[in-house]
Amino acid sequence: MRAVTDGLLIIGASQAGVSLATSLRALGYQDPITLLGDENHRPYQRPALSKEWLQGEITNESLMFRSQQYWAEHRINVVKNERIIRIAERGDGSGVAHSMSGAEFPFDRLALAVGARPRRLLLQGVDLPGVLYLRNADDALELKARVPGVREVVVIGGGFIGIEAAASLNTMGRRVTLLEAAPRLVPRAVGEQTATYLAEHHRAAGIDIVLGATVRRVLPSGDRVGGVELADGRVIPADLVLVGVGVIPNTELAESIGLVCDNGVRVDETAIASDGVTVAVGDCANLPNPLRGAPEGDRVRFESVNNAIEQAKVAAYAITGRHGEYAGVPWFWSNQAKIKLQIAGLSSGHDRTLVRANRELGKFSVLYYRGDQILAADCINNPLDFMAVRTALAQGAVIPYEAAADPSVQLKSVTVTPVPLVAAD
Ligand code: FAD
Ligand code: NAP
Repeated sequence: MRAVTDGLLIIGASQAGVSLATSLRALGYQDPITLLGDENHRPYQRPALSKEWLQGEITNESLMFRSQQYWAEHRINVVKNERIIRIAERGDGSGVAHSMSGAEFPFDRLALAVGARPRRLLLQGVDLPGVLYLRNADDALELKARVPGVREVVVIGGGFIGIEAAASLNTMGRRVTLLEAAPRLVPRAVGEQTATYLAEHHRAAGIDIVLGATVRRVLPSGDRVGGVELADGRVIPADLVLVGVGVIPNTELAESIGLVCDNGVRVDETAIASDGVTVAVGDCANLPNPLRGAPEGDRVRFESVNNAIEQAKVAAYAITGRHGEYAGVPWFWSNQAKIKLQIAGLSSGHDRTLVRANRELGKFSVLYYRGDQILAADCINNPLDFMAVRTALAQGAVIPYEAAADPSVQLKSVTVTPVPLVAAD
């Protein structure tokens, strides 16, 4: 008979995988845990790769999630540099994962924390040396190594990666042109007013932003990149091109073992996939919208640190036989040079917005409402507004539109928290 000591195999040793392993140990899970990833680095955090780390403000060591001592003391077997290419399942959720090197990793239970990979541009010239993507530490090391020899940078994509990297490279003294296909910046994550504010700010800081840009091809200069040609014939010189045009969830392993996938691995509210056993967490997972009041059946796939942590906690509860609720309100942040953007909630479905700005102090918030109900807020350099909205969303509280319209008013002071119903004796 098979020994039952293979424990949990977590494929993917980044934000979601690490959070799952550490949450499980915090809950007292005793079985063996293998945290396996294909990168040849100790598990590290990605957010600073486009910001503080790129600008040389923090060290490599500060990116690491945990010390070697932590992994050893908590009996988490961290395996680097092993890419799983095949999973042989036994039909009860246990099985063996086979890596490219030929190694085998047996498991009693499997967790997929395999994240997402950059969407590649399919255009002439994109394979030239000097055309880079930014997803992992190796990408970031290559980018950082090239910056000293670079004067002009074209960034393709005005999402978070593109703007953050553009802001960092601009701060580092490079001439930066940012090309966004949509008519405004960050179309997936922030509203129109926030996007306009960001564009004005970054243009004033020296970044050339081209909206509605269609890239025709990447041009060579000798044997390396020399520029980018737009559909209108404009040529923008570049000795480095950074592409940030979104990500694709890594669902291939899940599909190979028959799990239902649809823009990510479909999981229930406890992070369990369609076979009822396998766990999927983080950027690779498609989950029921956890927001209070979300439309019935609505599903989302988040790409954020907060989600990876929250979903991993929920999964850890499920694995240990308990029930944990997703801690409410999705939130996001993006540091872009002097801009500290924080987003609470999801703005989709809003029917009106409210801008609270204090331009002298550089504070700018947009509140999103559906009727009288606040749904979300984009807050720039305004942590108090962010905290107030995040708390209100978590409590189901009301921030009256009219009261919030005065930017000198603290949102916290006008928030109306529902009175809990007291059961009659
Ligand atoms: P990933 O981080 O993608 O990790 C998945 C891991 O699995 C990877 O190491 C991958 O190589 C590995 N893997 C995949 N397939 C296999 C396989 N077959 N075998 C073995 N290993 C495999 N979010 C924020 O909220 N705020 C920020 O400021 C922010 N900044 C960011 C800056 C950058 C430069 C980047 C790239 C992302 C940023 N994000 C930010 C997004 C955030 O980092 C991601 O949402 C988060 O990393 C998702 O974690 P994950 O573990 O689900 O996936
Ligand atoms: P993203 O947020 O999906 O943004 C990609 C942007 O590129 C979109 O605005 C997209 O426009 C645009 N685009 C697509 N094709 C283009 C083209 N050919 N030319 C010009 N623009 C084009 O993804 P990302 O910025 O690449 O980020 C990658 C991942 O890292 C995401 O998961 C992101 O959330 C994460 N990340 C997060 C943070 C943070 O939370 N602070 C920071 C960095 C990275 P359309 O939408 O119109 O296609």
